[in-house]
Amino acid sequence: MSQPTETIFSKIINRQIPANIVYEDDLSLAFRDITPQAPVHILVIPKQPIPMLAEATAQDQALLGHLLLVAAKIAKDEGLDRGFRVVINNGDHGGQTVFHLHLHILGGRAMQWPPG
Ligand code: 5GP
Repeated sequence: MSQPTETIFSKIINRQIPANIVYEDDLSLAFRDITPQAPVHILVIPKQPIPMLAEATAQDQALLGHLLLVAAKIAKDEGLDRGFRVVINNGDHGGQTVFHLHLHILGGRAMQWPPG
């Protein structure tokens, strides 16, 4: 089972704690990561608190597509013309620490492969 869906990201959505918000629409919110791992490191989250990708359902199909398009728009707005990386950490072994689905947008430097 996943963790409870009330997380620090719910508090950011509700403006209970501050964040450097770069984009918002009815379905999603994007803000700068508090511990950036690249010159540009932005998190895109659904306002609906899906704990992790593995718990998304067919009903979330359009929302998941929307999040990817939002990520691409933000990367363009941030000037990441040479490329960027989008990461979803899922669960313990995936490196997930906040159990509210989120996409990491990482850019502003060359990424390495394989990731750690
Ligand atoms: P995960 O490890 O779950 O994929 O990523 C969670 C991310 O959330 C981490 O990169 C971490 O730095 C970021 N994060 C955790 N707490 C906060 C917070 O309160 N504000 C912001 N802006 N980012 C946070």
